[in-house]
Amino acid sequence: MPLQRRTSLSLVPAYRQGRPAPEGAVKLSSNESPHPPLASVRDALAAELGSVQVYPDMSGARVRELLAERHGVAAESISLGAGSVEVASQLIHSRAGDGDEVVFAWRSFEAYPSLVRIAGATPVEVPLDADARHDLDAMLAAITPRTRLVFVCNPNNPTGTVVAAEALERFVDAVPRDVLVVIDEAYVHFDRTPERADGLDLFRRFPHVAVLHTFSKAYGLAGLRIGYAIAPLEVAEELRKVAVPFGVTNLAQTAAAASLRAEDELAIRIDEVVAERERMFAALDALGLGPVRSEANFVWVPEGSTGVEPVTAADLGAALEAGGVIARVFPGEGVRISCGTAADTDRVVAALEGAGLFDASLAADTGILVGNGGAA
Ligand SMILES: *Cc1c(COP(=O)(O)O)cnc(C)c1O
Repeated sequence: MPLQRRTSLSLVPAYRQGRPAPEGAVKLSSNESPHPPLASVRDALAAELGSVQVYPDMSGARVRELLAERHGVAAESISLGAGSVEVASQLIHSRAGDGDEVVFAWRSFEAYPSLVRIAGATPVEVPLDADARHDLDAMLAAITPRTRLVFVCNPNNPTGTVVAAEALERFVDAVPRDVLVVIDEAYVHFDRTPERADGLDLFRRFPHVAVLHTFSKAYGLAGLRIGYAIAPLEVAEELRKVAVPFGVTNLAQTAAAASLRAEDELAIRIDEVVAERERMFAALDALGLGPVRSEANFVWVPEGSTGVEPVTAADLGAALEAGGVIARVFPGEGVRISCGTAADTDRVVAALEGAGLFDASLAADTGILVGNGGAA
């Protein structure tokens, strides 16, 4: 007799990781930091290596205290996980199961549909608007009595678009109070809009808001796996209940604590990435590729938008790859290119120029192409 199977698992899409770069190529497919850890973080990790024979503090008390201080919230409202993707999973598992619905924009973070399906609940994907932004009215309309959570990815992965403060507040206020609004701020450090939404502000003012933060992107700790939710007390308690015991390692907690003490140094790195994002956007725009304005550490090029000649995502991905750049290709939809160092941007521009797919003369006078690029 064959093993009994959970039939709903056949609905779970497999998570596709950003492809590793072949030798000599640069990996701009996973929105990682281009930098190795700060010296202070390395030192803290080295010191912690002597203690890996013991279990970590399951509640992550030290990191939670630091975060509570940093954000001016109660430590009890913070719950850690092995990356914020695990915390998102905790949120879903603690609130939604068979027959329940979870609303989010699409396309958005690749993990949402599978996490919802794994919990046995039903994902409700609300298409982005024509400008690749959250369609908040349509998301509100998608809420039913079965809805348990709504995710707002802000800035949105993979499009880099943002929901501004006022619009987000209006949205949160319009969502029934028995539905938890989860504001996923994985890229919030890169958002430079003056009207930037602040999830924590909404968390303080509304009873049905949780905020997701991660150390993986701006803080450069993707390989160590640590993220957290700031959530209403009753929600945070439930998160700790559904969390896999000891999921957040000693090393991750130590590195997170050290990073929180080095935020000034990290801010300089973040500013550099933001500057490269602007340069990458300008270059893609000058080449006629119609990139979307981004407030994250990547730029989204929708398939066949304005281009000199419409270019498919697959062709664009292949052109980049031929030039030694591995980006994230969503066939039929677009290409997401992570931003890092000035050299990374130069690499992207050189790859596109070399591909001959684009009219490089368009960009010739902009001063942003290779050779001039590093001067900024
Ligand atoms: C990268 C990412 C995360 C979290 O990553 P972790 O490494 O699990 O912390 C969460 N949300 C979005 C939208 C992301 O892009």
